[in-house]
Amino acid sequence: KALKNSAPTGRIALLCLDLDGFKAVNDSLGHPIGDQLLKIVAQRLRKCLTKTDLAARLGGDEFAVVQCGSDGDHDGGLLASRIIEAVSAPYVIEGKQIIINGSIGIALAPQDGEDAEVLLQNADMAMYCAKIDRRGSYQYFSLAMRMRIEAKRSLELELRRALTEGRLDVHYQPVVDSNGNVRSFEALTRWFHPQSGEIPPAKYIPIAEESGLITALGEWTLRTACAAAATWPRDIKIAINLSPRQFTTGNIVQTVISALANTGLAADRLEIEITETVFLENNANTISILRQLHELGVRIIMDDFGTGYSSLSYLRSFPFDKLKIDRSFVEGLGNTEESLAIVRAILMLAKSLQIGVVAEGVETANQFRILRSEGCEAFQGFFFSRPESVDKISSMLARCNRQIAQAA
Ligand code: C2E
Ligand code: MG
Ligand code: MG
Repeated sequence: KALKNSAPTGRIALLCLDLDGFKAVNDSLGHPIGDQLLKIVAQRLRKCLTKTDLAARLGGDEFAVVQCGSDGDHDGGLLASRIIEAVSAPYVIEGKQIIINGSIGIALAPQDGEDAEVLLQNADMAMYCAKIDRRGSYQYFSLAMRMRIEAKRSLELELRRALTEGRLDVHYQPVVDSNGNVRSFEALTRWFHPQSGEIPPAKYIPIAEESGLITALGEWTLRTACAAAATWPRDIKIAINLSPRQFTTGNIVQTVISALANTGLAADRLEIEITETVFLENNANTISILRQLHELGVRIIMDDFGTGYSSLSYLRSFPFDKLKIDRSFVEGLGNTEESLAIVRAILMLAKSLQIGVVAEGVETANQFRILRSEGCEAFQGFFFSRPESVDKISSMLARCNRQIAQAA
């Protein structure tokens, strides 16, 4: 609407602003405070504008600004950074200090679209990209951006199809003790794309998380891996990765209970791996879920330890059964003193908290020997075996014993 009324000549910048962290304020402090916050945001926004700029609330925590370029800022960038700065200054409402951020997408007329609808769509897309790339920043719409989003959408559709048509697979990587006995296997999903070949989890797990597909994917992985593990020797456990999204959507405890019931796997043979990011959102809920899983007899492993936001306080709030030393630290063993120091510190920390430790990403005999001499008890990595399909389980069991014999 505003766009149609504005001067048809010259360039126009359409800015789309979305607040980062508004939902959390609404959820934790309540809607009345959320409403007050929005009012102050609108006031601050207005102060950033000149007479020829127009602002409107698009709904929720989204605002649009139309700039007709009267102050020499013809492409909205200056205005965008002014708005972000204004919005991210601390708020005090009813004695509570609140901090939020804003992300902005910018579309320019006429090149990014000639009518309001297209322009708004493109500014919205740019805002979405700003949000995922770096919160509290602004981005211009571009064709490359549109292609990136479209590629992602089609990947999402294909992943959905791959899941229903059974083109995903689970591979297993052994975790061994210092005698070369396999203690467990970690389940790692694999996607074989008919055209693109194998797509790594680092690429499709984030897409599955964003689209909500992770719930179905996680359920399928859990069922497949538990069914496989139920046929293995009883002293071998199965470790399964859970993504943070699975803690906020779906009923993960119920999913675990049915997977165990349907496959007949004993709960104490299941290990759940989570990363530190699980604790970034909704701490109380996460801990309650972990407790319920623990009560079933399931073990909980902290994965990629030392790489997250590394607030050690969660170690106090939940009794983890194991830590996995991230492979970036293992990689540096034998090369840098720092890596050795960090590995030592983690081993010491775990020992005094009486938590088990697994070193991941062990690629060489030397790394294995250093870790073992430092007191590490469990190891995982290409040195022992790469993740392999389920029919390779018995050959992996044999290989791990051989590798240890050679390293000794
Ligand atoms: P992760 O849980 O830390 O898994 C270990 C990753 O390290 C695996 O990568 C494994 O192949 C790789 N790796 C193992 N040993 C070595 C080594 O010696 N050297 C090197 N360079 N790499 C090694 P992968 O399979 O690509 O998986 C990447 C990540 O994707 C996993 O990290 C996990 O976070 C996630 N992921 C995989 N499958 C699932 C799943 O079913 N659900 C969820 N939520 N996440 C999954
Ligand atoms: Mg893992
Ligand atoms: Mg890991």
